[in-house]
Amino acid sequence: MIQFQNEHFTVFESQLYKTTSVVVKTKDCIIVVDPNLLPKEVEEIRNKVNKIKGNLPIYVIYTHSDWDHLIGSGAFLDATVIASHLFSKLDQHHILEQMKQFDDKYYLDRNYPISFPQVDIPISRERHTAKIGGTTLTFYQAPGHTADGIFAVIEPLGILIAGDYLSDVEFPFIYDSSFHYDLTLQKVDTILTNHRIQYLIPGHGHMASNTEEIRKRKEESKNYIQELRNSIKLNSDSHHLISHYPYWRELSFSHEDNIALIKRELNNQQKK
Ligand SMILES: [Zn+2]
Repeated sequence: MIQFQNEHFTVFESQLYKTTSVVVKTKDCIIVVDPNLLPKEVEEIRNKVNKIKGNLPIYVIYTHSDWDHLIGSGAFLDATVIASHLFSKLDQHHILEQMKQFDDKYYLDRNYPISFPQVDIPISRERHTAKIGGTTLTFYQAPGHTADGIFAVIEPLGILIAGDYLSDVEFPFIYDSSFHYDLTLQKVDTILTNHRIQYLIPGHGHMASNTEEIRKRKEESKNYIQELRNSIKLNSDSHHLISHYPYWRELSFSHEDNIALIKRELNNQQKK
């Protein structure tokens, strides 16, 4: 379904995990972010692009390598692909298997091949800028959730693409490192200083359209990590940190994973 639409961009929201996809049209190009997730949903996104593209080149940005964000990549084989330089170091076979596992589980068929994106523009530097006519894309490294996350800023539209950060329906899912996660959250302030941001689009949940809301989400994520560390040090229960999230029954598994990861980090610190 369509979560938001104006003359410049459309935010699609999957029925699964409120995963978002974005289609932006400028006078220079079409930019697609993380096309996903169910077959009909990816088809709808592809149809939208076909309808508006004319002769414009298509760029697809992948925010990070989690399979649910890559599963539509086979429908955009004609696009120029932008993602972290770390995509080349990934176990592609494993991620492809996760996608196929998902489709097999629900007997899903797709009108495009399941494939792993071939990155044309790898992002390895901080504040990497790509200019396409009057459209400017700026990328920042965003590790913490996964090591290969990136933030993208689309100007002059003032859109911040956050991948799996700054969600209003999920607390931080930390697969990489909580210390990297903290640094990535700090970077949000830098981005708000460097650019005039009007919209934040997270990978799951709802868009935010003012900087107060963006800063609030950043603070909530920061506090979650800090309080989780404290509760682990005190050996106290931390369910209250997630009980106000609407889907906490499912989210509790990710919370348990976070606890295990932070315990390992704190143990490693002690050993040093
Ligand atoms: Zn993710």
